[in-house]
Amino acid sequence: MIMILRIAIQKSGRLYDDSVALLKECGIDLRNVKDRLKTESDNFPLEVFFLRDDDIPQYVEDAVADIGIVGENVVYEKNREVEVVEQLGFGKCRLSLAIPRGTDFPGLHSLNGKRIATSYPNLINNFLEKNGVKAEIHEISGSVEIAPGIGLADVVCDLVSSGSTLFMNGLKEVETILQSQAVLVRNKKLNESKLQLLDKLLFRIKAVRKAKRNKYVLLNAPNEKLKQIISLLPGMKSPTVLPLAESGWSSVHSVLNEDEFWEKIEQLKAAGAQGILVVPIEKMVI
Ligand code: ATP
Ligand code: MG
Repeated sequence: MIMILRIAIQKSGRLYDDSVALLKECGIDLRNVKDRLKTESDNFPLEVFFLRDDDIPQYVEDAVADIGIVGENVVYEKNREVEVVEQLGFGKCRLSLAIPRGTDFPGLHSLNGKRIATSYPNLINNFLEKNGVKAEIHEISGSVEIAPGIGLADVVCDLVSSGSTLFMNGLKEVETILQSQAVLVRNKKLNESKLQLLDKLLFRIKAVRKAKRNKYVLLNAPNEKLKQIISLLPGMKSPTVLPLAESGWSSVHSVLNEDEFWEKIEQLKAAGAQGILVVPIEKMVI
């Protein structure tokens, strides 16, 4: 029997595009993804199921799918027996408490006795319990932000990214309960061959993610400044240095992390580097 790894991803919604793009960047071509419940890849032993994100943890726990891509918010709310394998860097948002603008928020104790509307009853309950607050939870499945406006609740607990939805509904964010992003989850009892396939996929995901966080940098340096410039550029092992056709100059190639990118570029320029080129990296295997 040919082993195939089954992955569950969101059918449509905020995680769909990035999930499909990640598989593509991992070199996995999917057959005809439009309006399908499932599809396969021709060049990797992967079957893809398209599901509501809420159902993904359960499908993975029940081994209907072996792995899944879903937001941490859903993983921790559903509290299913699945293992989080890797953070994927997209679908970033936070679960926050918000109250009508113009209302005071002297602290969490002011939530005592209030009505909180949310699609995340477990996460908010745990949070309130930990903080010794007793409030009334009203679980609703969508459009949570309108609850105060229609008199259903005093407070909302909802996902926020830019905050514009809260703003448009006259609300202000007062407390963050959870920071979230999309993660890869797995069934806890995968057999050896499935684990090997998962390792292969993870290896590719890590290479893609690492490449995104780094840039390839090429620059020209006068030889007398080489030592100082090289000390600014650690590279993967150490920078490549090649002589230029013009004597007294060298070309230096290296890799820079996005976190320190702009600062390093300024330092390199100040140290005498010229003609600095910055190139995206497609995959990075260390
Ligand atoms: P489904 O039909 O699959 O149940 P949904 O309406 O529950 O979809 P989406 O709104 O598509 O879900 O959001 C999917 C996930 O995207 C969220 O669970 C969360 O992890 C992430 N996300 C990122 N930013 C936001 C945001 N601003 N609002 C809501 N979700 C966000
Ligand atoms: Mg959902």
